[in-house]
Amino acid sequence: MIYLDNNATTFLDSQVLSAMEPILSGKVGNPSSIHRYGQAGAALLAKATKEVAAYFGVQTSEVVFTSGATEALNMLIRAIPNGSHIITSSLEHIAVIESLKFSGCEVDYLDPEAKNGAIAPWQVERALRPDTAAIILMAANNETGIKTDLEPIASMALERGVTFIVDGVAQLGRGEWPLPLGVSAVCFSGHKIHAPTGVGVAIIRKTMKTHPLIVGGPQQRGRRGGTENLVGIVGFAKALSLLPKSGAEMGALRDRFEEGLSTHLSGVSIHGGDQPRLCNTSNIAFLDVDGETLLMQLDLAGIAVSHGSACSSGTLESSRVLLNMQIEPKIARSSIRFSLSRFTTPDEIERAIKIIVDVVEKLRALTSPGS
Ligand code: PLP
Repeated sequence: MIYLDNNATTFLDSQVLSAMEPILSGKVGNPSSIHRYGQAGAALLAKATKEVAAYFGVQTSEVVFTSGATEALNMLIRAIPNGSHIITSSLEHIAVIESLKFSGCEVDYLDPEAKNGAIAPWQVERALRPDTAAIILMAANNETGIKTDLEPIASMALERGVTFIVDGVAQLGRGEWPLPLGVSAVCFSGHKIHAPTGVGVAIIRKTMKTHPLIVGGPQQRGRRGGTENLVGIVGFAKALSLLPKSGAEMGALRDRFEEGLSTHLSGVSIHGGDQPRLCNTSNIAFLDVDGETLLMQLDLAGIAVSHGSACSSGTLESSRVLLNMQIEPKIARSSIRFSLSRFTTPDEIERAIKIIVDVVEKLRALTSPGS
């Protein structure tokens, strides 16, 4: 099986498993306990927190571990004062869209310009109001891989004293990405970087005041109650240390994949092909082919992919993201997301090209038998 659905989730790295194994099988106590088992846990927690902070170039007090990015986003959104104005986009992950419904704020959902897959800085500037309290945008879109030009937006936010929350989930581990000054908080998810599910992190700069979403004990400096998920946290820190410094290798494979399909098939178009994109993501429309059928046929032929985002796959709805990019519904329905990981091999890419060409040609022959 060739796994090309790494934006939905990644498989656990064996080195991450090895780092977690002593905690799973050993005698590690609750980091809040005073005895030696507890202190062993506390030492592991402190080390992992230090490593995560160092990776992002922030202080340990700015790191809050969560159960994933959805929880982190909920926590960050709840910190925005009720009744204020928020700027976000219609391309955001459902975790942002749904959480904002409970924010008690007036929310502007910006649509990208036609066929563009990201909100341009000028659009944010135009939407800013004197009562704007926050801007919430993704660093890169998980369905198309199209990147947001964060730097100028971060500068604007800094200048105007507006909180800037970034969903960094799709971006992490897919190429270099310095955290721009002016970003108030950013969140990430373990299962997108070969760490386990059930762990995520929010980096919250000192300038942003939050209150806990999960109320309980005084863990994590009172920012998130509950005994820490030590196994997940240690796994997350290890996974970070293994991320490639550059996306060049993955990018070369992705480019070869797109070139192979475009050479051997007609009616192929790559969403955002001319825009800055993550090195691992291709969202491709195959003209006159139903995406859901193609996804199922590819599964049978040995390739695992997605149609839209994981949350909405399994339904027959077209991708909200593609529709909000003003892509025709028929084209959106014929689109498939392919997402690579650092474990994807050149051989897998060559085999995937052959299989996809074969399956698409067969499906097209079925729908137009006379040609
Ligand atoms: N943001 C983006 C861009 C995502 O792709 C996802 C997961 O699909 C999330 C947020 C939510 O992450 P988690 O699964 O850790 O809750």
